[in-house]
Amino acid sequence: MKNVKSERVKRIEEIKLPQMLDFYPLEGEKNTRINPFFENLKERRLTTTKCKTCERLLWPPRIICPECMSDELEWVNLGSEGELYAFTEMRLGAPLGFAEDVPFSIGIVKISGLSISARIDDAKYEDLKIGDKVQLKIVELEDGRVFYRFVPSE
Ligand SMILES: [Zn+2]
Repeated sequence: MKNVKSERVKRIEEIKLPQMLDFYPLEGEKNTRINPFFENLKERRLTTTKCKTCERLLWPPRIICPECMSDELEWVNLGSEGELYAFTEMRLGAPLGFAEDVPFSIGIVKISGLSISARIDDAKYEDLKIGDKVQLKIVELEDGRVFYRFVPSE
């Protein structure tokens, strides 16, 4: 997909985080039934599930629709461009593994009708404003896991 940046992020790997404190989920097929979400991220695609029965777009991705209890779900692309709806800056109390990144921006991004929270990279808090266009960015951990963030559109 065009314009999707990616970055390999370093973490302080000497600190072995207990699973309950690890911000990044276990993404493998054996660990989660939303494994396709992470496989799609590896292909630079942000996706979620949509209920085939009631057509509700679900976020975060689900295995059962919380609206109608159907398990007839399909994976749909959300695109790579969103709009900043709200944002703040993390200065203190970052989750374990993120302490060295402080300060960093986090926000709520409107994308394909959903509001999703994400880190906003490559932008200082004071340079952001509500309504800014943002682009999907994929981060890759050294252990092969992936996650999504956003960056200001160029
Ligand atoms: Zn449904």
